[in-house]
Amino acid sequence: MDYSKIISREFPLKYADYLNLELVEFENHGNIFRLEINAFHSLKKMLESAESEGINLYICSAFRSIEHQQEIIHKSIVQYMAEGLSKQQAEEKTNKEILPPLASEHNAGLAIDFCLEDGELREDFENTEQFEWLVKNAYKFGYILRYKREYEDKTGIIYEPWHFRFVGISAKELKDICLEEY
Ligand SMILES: [Zn+2]
Repeated sequence: MDYSKIISREFPLKYADYLNLELVEFENHGNIFRLEINAFHSLKKMLESAESEGINLYICSAFRSIEHQQEIIHKSIVQYMAEGLSKQQAEEKTNKEILPPLASEHNAGLAIDFCLEDGELREDFENTEQFEWLVKNAYKFGYILRYKREYEDKTGIIYEPWHFRFVGISAKELKDICLEEY
């Protein structure tokens, strides 16, 4: 597997690659997640290293199946319609915010969303000691902050301080640029 490969709306994961993913199940603070096997082994080292420095990392999302991705999209559309949008408006808004199945790095088991200790996923994650630690250290374990504020135009995705992507050994080269430039 090429870990620095772009997975996006424009370049979705191939269905055959999705079916061949080797996933590992693991636990984090009482919740069960799955990740691609090498992404998992690196995550494990990263969590241990963080913990040894007194930093507890809370995961709220890792691998997502195609079905799960579809369910998130469906829920978002239903939610926007409940707020008064037409079906078309709700679909358009959802389409801007959530990637279709196979276009998300989570579908490849290579992405992790870290959340606040209360289990919530919010932009103020960027003000936590966890975020500070990740920005400084994640690349040592093959992970990069994927959707940076200054690269919104290039990635087509809003700033997501919680979303880290496993890219393997190229993380050191990639940490200060964006994958689209690589
Ligand atoms: Zn994510």
